[in-house]
This record gives sequence, structure tokens and C-alpha cells, in this order.
Amino acid sequence: MSADPRRAVPRTDTLLADPALADAASRLGRELVKDAVRAVQSRIRAGELAPDDAVAAVLAGLPSTASALRPVLNATGVLVHTNLGRAPLSAAAVEAVVAASGTTDVELDLSTGRRGPRGEAAIAALLAAVPAAGAAIVVNNCAAALALVATALGGELVIARGELVEIGDGFRIPALLESTGARLREVGTTNRVTLDDYRDALYDDTGAVLKVHPSNFVVRGFTRAVPVHELAEALANSGVPLVADVGSGLLRPHPALPDEPDLQTTLADGADLVLASGDKLLGGPQAGLVLGRADLVQRLRRHPLYRALRVDKTTLAALEATLRGPQPPVQQMLAADVDGLRARARALAGRLAAAGVDAHAVDSAARVGGGGAPEHPLPSAAVSLPEPFAEPLRRGARPVVGYVADGRTLLDLRSVPPSADDDLAAAVLEVAQRWP
Ligand SMILES: *Cc1c(COP(=O)(O)O)cnc(C)c1O
Repeated sequence: MSADPRRAVPRTDTLLADPALADAASRLGRELVKDAVRAVQSRIRAGELAPDDAVAAVLAGLPSTASALRPVLNATGVLVHTNLGRAPLSAAAVEAVVAASGTTDVELDLSTGRRGPRGEAAIAALLAAVPAAGAAIVVNNCAAALALVATALGGELVIARGELVEIGDGFRIPALLESTGARLREVGTTNRVTLDDYRDALYDDTGAVLKVHPSNFVVRGFTRAVPVHELAEALANSGVPLVADVGSGLLRPHPALPDEPDLQTTLADGADLVLASGDKLLGGPQAGLVLGRADLVQRLRRHPLYRALRVDKTTLAALEATLRGPQPPVQQMLAADVDGLRARARALAGRLAAAGVDAHAVDSAARVGGGGAPEHPLPSAAVSLPEPFAEPLRRGARPVVGYVADGRTLLDLRSVPPSADDDLAAAVLEVAQRWP
């Protein structure tokens, strides 16, 4: 080897011709491999790496897929974490996505060879899960569902002041509604609204009465809201549709979340349309679900804007598999029994402590997240580690995101699938081994 490592920097062409790298280039694309080659060449030039190790270093520097998005272990205890992509898909939904990702019969009837209704099976699965609905459509997300409703039903939308909600990251529902050209008629006060407030606000150009579930906050004290069934009764002969944005996507009431509205009950209570997200408590792909009266759903489907908001075949596949397949991860996490979580925390902490890591099991409080059930902590268990673990765990080969409380890094297990416990232990041990 030459004394000056810079003289021995392998050429790009030579490296790309290596069979292992050529194979990687056919899988990941030449540009991605070239980027990794350039990074390795500059390390060799800087004298940080021996030229003979170039191929191994390029391979080590390659991402596992052609996307920069990486799998992350969510140990935050927030089951539906928007920054971590909300609901993880079930294995059945992932399989369905893969199967549908090529050319697929999303809009073709294979028996006749003619065009068929798009995503018919996913819609049928939704209607089977929510029998109170006459029809359904699926759009990009719940915000898209709101935009479509505001555009298609339009005119003036009547909404309680206490329901002018900001969801997160500056997303304000009233601003979204107004951006469509609809006008808002705000009724009631911040803390109180009555049936008469709604009745007095109805005019000829009222497009809909909109109820928005205040997902991420609660108002306590001298408060009053009008339940869906009372509002529905009062609107019955007015011809004004009642639209309820329930947000979380629960299909039916959930015993662990008594304050969270669900699609079936809200429709049974008399709402004409319900809107929800697909990737919150439903546990499916990002989507906006619109269910309810068939004539209203048809009006939305016929509106030109629908075409701009409709979803991809892979979303339809994931949604159908979430509805028809085995319980998705979010619902398993919600149902997990706290004794089981404690046992996992003890087992993990024991393994880590045996390897010399300052780890122990603690009780913790998990949350639904994604703007759901803000006042409803879920009893949970966590592995407690020294605070300095937080950052290297995030930056590891298999990133783990926990949280820091009282000077300790906590890895909450309610948001981690049990099948990932070994990966979690391995990630912690890897950090511990690199400890100075
Ligand atoms: C989360 C939420 C939304 C926004 O849903 P996206 O699917 O993220 O667009 C709208 N309304 C309510 C009540 C929500 O909780």
C-alpha cells in the first residue's frame, strides 16, 4: 500500500464494477450507490479508511431501501405518533399493499373486462364494519374529507365556537374550511352552545351543520355542547345535513376510550355524514373516510374536487386488509394488558442489566396520540435507562425513539410490538457497547 492513502483512492468505475456493488446498484439504483462510493472515497482521501476496505464500507453505508425513510421503533408510548407516521400497518395490510402495488384490478371488472367501480372491495369492507352507513368514499385524509364536504355542500357552514379546532402543526380546521370558499357561521361561545344557537343560525344558504370532535383538548367546568342525537332531531325536517368529524376513526365504541366518538354510533345517532382519519385508532393507512347517507356521499363523489383527493390503489388495499384482516397493531397496543407490559419491561431490563447496562423496569403512562383521548392516559410499563442513551438510540442503525423524564430515558413498551423486543434490546446494547 502506498504511504499516502490519497494516491490509492479506488476509482469510481472500479468500485462500481465490483459484483457486490453492481448488485446493490441494480437493487437500489446507480446514483444511490455512487453517493455512497463518493463518501467512502473522501474518507480514504482523509486517511480515515484503508483503500482495501472500500467495498465493505460502501456496502455498510448503503440504505436498505431506495427510500431515505427508515423503520423506527416507537418507544414514545404515543400509540399514534404523527411524526413517526401514525398507525403502523398490520402484516396483512403490508402484504395487501405489496400485492396491489403492481398493476391490479382496482378499477376493472375482470369477469366482464369492463371498467368497474374504483376500490369497491374497500368500500364494501367499510360498509360491513359500519352498518349504519348507506355509502362511503375514501379520500386522502380527514382534512381532504373536510375540504370536500365544505366545497360540495358549501354555502354557509354552521359550527360551534368551541369546535374551531387546531389539530397540530398549525393545521386549523376553520382555516381549511374557509380556504374552500365556504363561509363559517360560528354559534355559541367558547364553552357553551345550545340547540337554539344552532336553530337561529340556519338560513337558506346553510350548506351543513358541522360538528368537529375537539380531539386534542377538553373544556371543563361551565360547559355545554349539543349531542349529535339532539342536533339530528332538531335538523330532521330542515333539509340541512348534519356532518360530524369524529377524527379518530374508531368504528365502534371502545371500552378503554369512553370519551372517543365512533363512526357507527354517530351515524346511528342521526348524523348524515361522518368523517374520520384512517391512520389513527382505526390502525390503517393515511386516508379520510366519509360515510353516511347515500345521496350525500354520491354528491361528494360526483364533485370535480373528489378526483383530486381520491386515494391510491395501495391505500385502498391497506384499508381493506385493516378492516377485514387481523387486529392491526394500534388496536393490539390499545388492548395490551398492563401486567403483560410490565413482564416485558422486567425481562428486557433484566437482559440489559445482565450485560452491565443501568436499566430497570418502571411503570409509565402511554397515550393514544394523533389528537385522540387527550385526558386518557393508558397504564403502561417502560425500560428506564440513563438519560444520555436518548440521542444515540435515535441515531443508531435501528433508530429507537423514547422520551426523557426526570433525568432518565424511558422506552415505553405499549407502543412497541412485542415482536420488536429483541430489536429494542439489541439497539440498547449497541449503544452501551459504544459507551466511552
Ligand atoms: C386528526 C383530525 C383531523 C385531521 O385528520 P388528517 O387525517 O390528519 O387529515 C381532522 N379532524 C379531527 C377531529 C381530527 O382529530
